[in-house]
Amino acid sequence: MPLHVLSHPLGAHVLTHLRDQTTKPALFRTLSYQISLLLALDATSDLAMDMKLIHTPLEPVKGLVLGKPLAVVPILRAGLGMVQPFTDIFPDVSVGYVGLERDHTTAIARSYYCKLPPLAGKRTIVVDPMLATGGSAAQALDVVKAAGATEIVFVCIVAAPEGIAVVEKAHPTVPIYAGALDRELNAKKYILPGLGDFGDRLYGT
Ligand code: URA
Repeated sequence: MPLHVLSHPLGAHVLTHLRDQTTKPALFRTLSYQISLLLALDATSDLAMDMKLIHTPLEPVKGLVLGKPLAVVPILRAGLGMVQPFTDIFPDVSVGYVGLERDHTTAIARSYYCKLPPLAGKRTIVVDPMLATGGSAAQALDVVKAAGATEIVFVCIVAAPEGIAVVEKAHPTVPIYAGALDRELNAKKYILPGLGDFGDRLYGT
């Protein structure tokens, strides 16, 4: 499945400020909102539409409306920073949560929470800002598939080639939408150049 990297100039502008180590949590949250909004639009640009006959004040016209319900599933905790744009532009979106925590020594993800709406028949958008090793992403995609999701996309702000390879191998039919494709992981499995620990920067921890 193709990797879609954001091409809007505003995406690159926002990402530069997200990467900047002097950016404080309040601005970091605003920038996360902005880039996630661009990604939300990108990841839904091919949504199925239904025809609907309506009447303008002047005449009847065949319009189009969204044809499939949506669900957004953030991987806790950093994924929470990407949810609001989805709920703002898709008011009927369902929200589920998958809690996966990365062990800082082994970099292996452990599941500690899962609460999902019915996913069958919905476009399910799994969001996690940093696609690093791909372990959490692949695990979260397993979880949503087990819960009935069939039309799934994965959305992140920064992706590493290593993470993309892992997700593509485990879930070859899931398209990945990323704000940027970075160079590589360092020895501690952080993305380079990256932006540091997204959750820590979002919440000031
Ligand atoms: N998670 C982060 O927050 N940052 C990285 O670089 C990798 C994983």
